[in-house]
Amino acid sequence: METRYATLIIGVIVAATLIAGLVVGAQRDDRSGPVDLVVLNGRVFTGAGQEPAEALAVRGHEILRVGSNREMKRLAGAATRVIDAHGGSVLPGFIDGHVHFMSGGIGMDRVNLLDAESLDAITRKIREFAAANPDRPWVLGRGWYYSPFPGGLPTRQQLDALVPDRPAYMTCYDGHTGWANTAALKLAGITAKTPDPADGVVVKDPKTGEPTGVLKEAAMGLMSKVLPQPTRADRLRAIRRASEEASRLGITSIHEAGTSDASLELFEEVRREGALNVRVYAALSVTDAMTAADADAFDALRLKYAANPQIRIGAIKVMADGVIEAHTAAMLAPYSNNPTTGHANYTPQELQRIVSMMDRRNWQVMTHAIGDGAVRMTLDAYEVAAGANPAPPAGRRHRIEHAETIDPADIPRFARQNTIVSYMPFHANPTPAQLTVWTTNIGPDRSSRGWIVRTMQQAGARQVFGSDWPVVALDPRLEINMAVTRRTADGKPPEGWLPDQAISLESAIENMTAAGAYASFDEARTGRIQPGQLADIVILSKDVFAQPPARFLDAVVDVTILGGKVVYGGRSSTESRDSGST
Ligand SMILES: [Zn+2]
Repeated sequence: METRYATLIIGVIVAATLIAGLVVGAQRDDRSGPVDLVVLNGRVFTGAGQEPAEALAVRGHEILRVGSNREMKRLAGAATRVIDAHGGSVLPGFIDGHVHFMSGGIGMDRVNLLDAESLDAITRKIREFAAANPDRPWVLGRGWYYSPFPGGLPTRQQLDALVPDRPAYMTCYDGHTGWANTAALKLAGITAKTPDPADGVVVKDPKTGEPTGVLKEAAMGLMSKVLPQPTRADRLRAIRRASEEASRLGITSIHEAGTSDASLELFEEVRREGALNVRVYAALSVTDAMTAADADAFDALRLKYAANPQIRIGAIKVMADGVIEAHTAAMLAPYSNNPTTGHANYTPQELQRIVSMMDRRNWQVMTHAIGDGAVRMTLDAYEVAAGANPAPPAGRRHRIEHAETIDPADIPRFARQNTIVSYMPFHANPTPAQLTVWTTNIGPDRSSRGWIVRTMQQAGARQVFGSDWPVVALDPRLEINMAVTRRTADGKPPEGWLPDQAISLESAIENMTAAGAYASFDEARTGRIQPGQLADIVILSKDVFAQPPARFLDAVVDVTILGGKVVYGGRSSTESRDSGST
């Protein structure tokens, strides 16, 4: 019964594919009519090791042709929109392989301290934000680093001086420490008498016993209870703003690393408005309590979005451990400055149960595993599932997110199991603010295997790049620059941090484009500038492959095109046409 039904379904799919093929084929063979858009005078990146092309033509949502200026000019008619790339690089639209789009968007309504590396900069940004937003009952922000503060931690008095009139609360860039002013502490009822919660610390002044304003780990929960929660309208606005920001930065697809039915409904609402300027590949958040009934509900939800033109669900997001900075990443051996081996959120058995269950249902598993212990446990779970379940139709493409340090014995397993390593290269930004605590906690040997992009490439592992915004900035150029130079944006240290791990610019761009398409089962439609692919394209202000090489960061995004529609820039060219939907 089940087999007959399956045969019928396969028959329908084959028929539908044939029809779709005919339609697409007909469109591609139609070389007589004019095209909708041409990009001329570019250095069009057509893949690693390929000669760049000059120009491309778009019809409808797709790339029709890639080739010379002359050829594309012949395809253009009076109604064709012409974009002059002025010699700049033309790349596939960036795919952010790991992002928290909703929270990033919410953060855009708050003080952003990610680029504030000095106490002066922190002070200025908070003061300016408070002055510009006098009506907000709270001043909220995130992204401060420990190092600008004497002793490594801020105080409530410092924040009182900047925001004296209302509660203020700022979370650290790593999300593990909070900084409150006196008004916020008062609202949360935090006093000298407040005990430390389990797994958290209310930091107190050793002389007076009064809270200093710093809340560590679970103590942040005392503040969360009184913080204003974003409303539905706030969340919708967050998606719209994040979407605009993505277009400004050349991002055309995102992998939302941990979301829910309710959040996806809001993405869908923004899409129907026509304001969702990215393709969304969603990973649904799970916990170790996940049941088969939950999996059934996930299956139904995946089906609900199966025909959605911009939103797809294909993965579950598992949080296997914490972070190295807080000694919560699960390590094979104790930390270098602390006897703990960290904390895994799952037992190996629990992880295996969920991975096998979802693998059998043809879901991709996307596991946050930062420490070498969590990485091994996750590889083991993927291996067990592969041994127990039949191979899915598109192959097994489970992923490990972050994998900040990997035991040498596990490096070859990624290629062997086709497990994708999902790196956020800019997390390795080698400033004292960002890297000192990380390297001190795990010591020199394990640090030497930090974000080993090149080693993994040589070991044949599939990779994908993402930002993890809002943990760091959303700009894909920062990821690419870091992967290529292993230096900060201002070139420090000059020799680079683990410089042997730098990869070529071509590889870095592919990890931020084609690799993202593969990692989301979307490589037939996106990730490359090729005829038949969706016209998701970014035009940069400079040729990033010019010799001698320009700094990648000196190039800015001039134009972003999503499915043939210009969603950012392009003002200087023919304005009148707008191709409508994406
Ligand atoms: Zn993340």
